[in-house]
Amino acid sequence: QEDIFKNVVSHAKEYGFIFPSSEIYDGLSAVYDYAQNGAELKKNIREYWWKAMVQMHENIVGIDAAILMHPTTWKASGHVDAFNDPLIDNKDSKKRYRADVLLEDYCEKLQQKAQKEIDKARERFGESFDEQQFITTNGRVVEYLSKKKSILERMAKSLDSGDLEDVKALIEELEIADPETGSKNWTEVRQFNLMFGTKLGASAENAMDLYLRPETAQGIFVNFLNVQKTGRMKVPFGIAQTGKAFRNEIVARQFIFRMREFEQMEMQFFVKPGEEMKWYEYWKETRLKWHLSLGLGAENYRFHDHEKLAHYANAAADIEFNFPFGFKELEGIHSRTDFDLKAHEEYSGKKLQYFDTEENKNYVPYVVETSVGLDRMFLAVFSKALQEETLEDGSTRTVLRLPSVLAPTKAAVLPLLKKDGLPEIARAIIEDLKWDFNVAYDEKDAVGRRYRRQDALGTPFCITVDHQTLEDQTVTLRHRDSMVQDRVAISALRGIILEEVSM
Ligand code: ATP
Repeated sequence: QEDIFKNVVSHAKEYGFIFPSSEIYDGLSAVYDYAQNGAELKKNIREYWWKAMVQMHENIVGIDAAILMHPTTWKASGHVDAFNDPLIDNKDSKKRYRADVLLEDYCEKLQQKAQKEIDKARERFGESFDEQQFITTNGRVVEYLSKKKSILERMAKSLDSGDLEDVKALIEELEIADPETGSKNWTEVRQFNLMFGTKLGASAENAMDLYLRPETAQGIFVNFLNVQKTGRMKVPFGIAQTGKAFRNEIVARQFIFRMREFEQMEMQFFVKPGEEMKWYEYWKETRLKWHLSLGLGAENYRFHDHEKLAHYANAAADIEFNFPFGFKELEGIHSRTDFDLKAHEEYSGKKLQYFDTEENKNYVPYVVETSVGLDRMFLAVFSKALQEETLEDGSTRTVLRLPSVLAPTKAAVLPLLKKDGLPEIARAIIEDLKWDFNVAYDEKDAVGRRYRRQDALGTPFCITVDHQTLEDQTVTLRHRDSMVQDRVAISALRGIILEEVSM
């Protein structure tokens, strides 16, 4: 698993998908740049989301709110007071950890130990093995799992009540060592606000303290009535947007999974109070279907229903994805009640109410939200698509089996030789296709190597122009996944590519 993850990171760099930010200055931790191919893939994911959410829903519209917002926004939303993570330092190694992540990692290890015992027993007993019974009767497994359960329960309770001393006690009680140095010397646990501050204004006395938005949602809430009125929207309706968000994450690791500057794709769906659970279930299913439509394998997704709810929610679930480092949150679906709109009413003194013509009354709508990280989507798609294959002749190839709709380049056009008029025909094919599809030209190296290069970039088609093309206007069309080669007329290319890359 670790190797897979290393491959993902190095492939992303080597093939021009993702670079560390400001690399010539040794990078900036947990900040990344999308390179020439990564920017295309990311844009295609964003578009795939936007089409499914906005274009396909008559009652959902999209906006693009500013990153900078009036500072009172973050008072009302609760971010100033409660957007914190528990932080703990190791005095010896001077390393900084998110206290809950440290405990969760420890629990993950307990889970792995239990799983090892289970796997060993399954091997020993074969067919007759009853996993459930083994889990409840085997002393060691029972011990690992109950220890895990009790840690997670205690941790959740202490975090909930803000009793950080207890979190520290838990860490010490378990003698959890610094993962790198083995040291166990911890400081007290403290709350750390994740918002990035900045200043607006030229002179020091008049400057206004602002925050870079930590989520895009608030730009939607404050515009709720503007959009409802100008768009003449009727409840239930949704407002969607994609855009950058910033969080000063304590532990930044796992590549683009947890970044300090990242992009969200969020949709707030405004519903009649009392109908939120129906819509919550609807959006859970609808969002899962969207993920499944990419064909990365249903076994890689699961729901995680939250027991511990945020201050604004009355129901919440994550769609988790099987990343190279295990199942982790990819998207959140939250029933946010009328918390946000009510809070903005209170802090702004402006009414944010909807007049329901059927009921002939005003109310503050309830909100069901879907929120997915674009970068996490990128990592999910990219890491599952990256495969090493052994071919029939025993050789291996690296292939990025991206869903065609998301592939940065849809087709590469390759003249077999750099002479005899073949490059000119290849260029003419590109001219004809390039407004509709991102297509590439490549004439360097033997054609087999060019195929492999396109495989590694995830290009679904290679179009090879050879001497037969001069006679009958046909080309070789090579398919990335099957490596099958067909002979097709140049005039048929557009239709074939269009069908492959359509949703
Ligand atoms: P986590 O528990 O992983 O920190 P969260 O529950 O705080 O995430 P939300 O506030 O619900 O996340 O944000 C919605 C989505 O935004 C997440 O599902 C995730 O895909 C994405 N996201 C959140 N924080 C980051 C980050 N630091 N880097 C990249 N994506 C992020």
